[in-house]
Amino acid sequence: QEAPVLLNVNGIEVIYNHVILVLKGVSLTVPEGHIVALLGANGAGKTTTLRAVSNLLKAERGDVTKGSIDYRGERIDRLTPADLVKRGVVQVMEGRHCFAHLTVEENLLTGAYTRNLGRADMHAALERVYQYFPRLKQRRGSQAGYTSGGEQQMTAIGRALMANPNMILLDEPSMGLAPQIVEEIFEIVRDLNQREKVSFLLAEQNTNIALRYADYGYILENGRVMMDGEARELAENEDVKEFYLGVS
Ligand code: ATP
Repeated sequence: QEAPVLLNVNGIEVIYNHVILVLKGVSLTVPEGHIVALLGANGAGKTTTLRAVSNLLKAERGDVTKGSIDYRGERIDRLTPADLVKRGVVQVMEGRHCFAHLTVEENLLTGAYTRNLGRADMHAALERVYQYFPRLKQRRGSQAGYTSGGEQQMTAIGRALMANPNMILLDEPSMGLAPQIVEEIFEIVRDLNQREKVSFLLAEQNTNIALRYADYGYILENGRVMMDGEARELAENEDVKEFYLGVS
């Protein structure tokens, strides 16, 4: 039985500043409950694809000039990021973007701003995050800017979780982190996927780890999907091994 399609990106073209064509017709699908990896070198267009889905291009002077994006069968290309959050689509930005002067817990609380929760529900939402990220519970009172890179990445994912998402767009979670911490974060991603049925569209330059945790992968090159397939098959593909896994 095939899972129903949650997100469908249909031939999108993205132009920055009215002239720089960055995505040249990207199509991809995220089935419900799956982890889908968006792979490719620096500059291939991964971040741009995520920003197109979460409608965060405007701030970068980018526009979707062709194609369409559907979520649960509904066009979402004209929705604001806040409307998307209400529908369950949340982006965790590259470089983590915590509020450095707020505590870890205050950062988490900002993630629930669209939900209008009462005290008890807010507390339950926090406890749910701490259950997945016990480290954050220990660090709850620390200023986020003084926590480690791994803890900041966890805070960013935890904040997304506070919105009770169906789908998380996760941009480069491994960036700048030690391998052991990266592994820890991907284990939590897998846990969230299996236990909470959160779907992920995951942009990663670290092809190796992404293909170990994802179900399916798309490889972007220069604004186009060059290859896609089951993660296990991509990991065995000779070209992928040579160009993206550094083995041949
Ligand atoms: P990274 O790993 O660096 O995030 P990426 O695959 O996510 O790489 P994008 O960030 O989507 O790639 O960038 C794709 C291309 O678009 C690059 O050539 C980049 O220089 C260009 N680009 C990104 N943002 C802008 C912008 N605001 N204005 C103009 N060009 C941009």
